[in-house]
Order: sequence, then C-alpha cells, then structure tokens
Amino acid sequence: MVEDPRYGRIMSVRGLDLSTLRRFSICVVGAGALGNEVLKNIVLYGPRELTVLDFDSVERSNLGRCFLFSREDAETGMRKADAAARAIGRMNDDVAVKALVEDARSLDHEFFSGFDMVLGCMDNIASRLHVNANCYYCGVPYVDGGIDGLAGRVQVVIPPDGACYQCTVNATHMSVVDLGYTCTGREANVPRRLVPSEPSVSSLTGSLQSLEAARIAAGKGEAGRMLLYNGLRNELDSVIVSVSGVCDNHGCGKDENHKD
Ligand SMILES: [Zn+2]
Repeated sequence: MVEDPRYGRIMSVRGLDLSTLRRFSICVVGAGALGNEVLKNIVLYGPRELTVLDFDSVERSNLGRCFLFSREDAETGMRKADAAARAIGRMNDDVAVKALVEDARSLDHEFFSGFDMVLGCMDNIASRLHVNANCYYCGVPYVDGGIDGLAGRVQVVIPPDGACYQCTVNATHMSVVDLGYTCTGREANVPRRLVPSEPSVSSLTGSLQSLEAARIAAGKGEAGRMLLYNGLRNELDSVIVSVSGVCDNHGCGKDENHKD
C-alpha cells in the first residue's frame, strides 16, 4: 500500500516505526492545558480513532492555556470534549475523532479495554488512580501526564510489566486523595487552589507524553519510566520507578498467586 504523503515525513523518521500507531484507537482523558497539547500531537500522528474524554465546560479562564478553545466556546459554555474534538478533527480529518462528556471515574474496565492506549491529562489524583487501575487490569498501556507551573511529569505504565501510577502515590497522597491535589501530586489548599500553568511547560510536557505514546506503539516503551521536567532550570530527569509492595494493582495478584 502506498503511504499517504501526509504521513511521509513522520514515517521516514529513523528509529521509531509509527505505522502501528496509525492503527491504534487512543483515548485522551482530560482536555485541559495538557490535554490540548497531547491531542494536537496525537491527531497529527493519524491514529485510527481518537477519543476525547472530559466532563467539564470551556470557561474564559481556559483560553490563556488551551489553544484548541475559542472565545465562542467559552461564551456558550461548550463542553471541552466537544470543542477539542471539533478542533482536532479540523486538523486531521483522516482520524475518527470522538467526544465523550463523562467523568472518567464513572467508567469501568469495559470502557478502557476498548482502546489500544490511554493517555491521562487529568487534574487530580483520584481520577488518575481510577484510570490507571482500570488500564492496568485490562492490560492497556497508560501514559500519565501532569503539570504544575514550571514542573512537568510523565509516567509510562505498560501492564503487566513494571510500576504503575499507583506505585508512585504515597500514603499521604492516598489519605487525602479526594482533596484538591495538583497534577504532580503536590498538596493544594482547600478550597482548591488554581494550579499555575505555564504554556511552554504544558507544551513540552504534552510533547514528552505524546512521544512516550509513540515509543510504546513502536515497541520501544519502557515500563515504569518516569520523566520529571524542571522548567526553572530547564532540566529533565528520567528514572525507572520500582513496583510498590503495597500497590493494589500488583500486590493483590501476587498474594493470590502465592497463597499456600
Ligand atoms: Zn502499581
């Protein structure tokens, strides 16, 4: 089959075979500042299907950090999923773009098992834990992303290998998981503070997250890999996170398998 010239430059990239990604059905959870950046990159890769999941509506305060939204979207209170899906659909009409206005926490493993990969761009730990656990249960690769001002964080989860997102959430986080926590896990004041957002860091973190998705599709993903970006110093650290002995997603299975 002759490759569409649209993807000629992407497919000619050495060392990263992106042909598999073109056949993927991908879900991006969260269409805020980070989600906007991730959706832009993923739709340009030309996956088979791209689902935008978000229950929130566009507000004027979103316009300073979400380039997929317009002033009209904010004035009419358009749903973020619908506005983002419309914008990326215009960027690449080869892709079957779907919008789903739902809270991720209301969806179970049957929903998440329908995708080849899920990317998390959420603003709270509870939703991340829910999506991570469901993806892990289904064996669906999950790439989590978070931003907080000049800090960016990306974590690669490739079940059943390596650590998952919950492995990195400590007891303090778990005890206040429903309170206002930021994307990177730092405690927020209650009532919830406005999480600072810097456009370049959002863009960079979203690009790191999208590239990890591309690496997974190309068979080069590394389970448990975590990228930590510090925008103040413009430095990036990369580590492999260890599986936690108290993580429900790993621990339960191990206990059952090792019962005497
Ligand atoms: Zn885990």
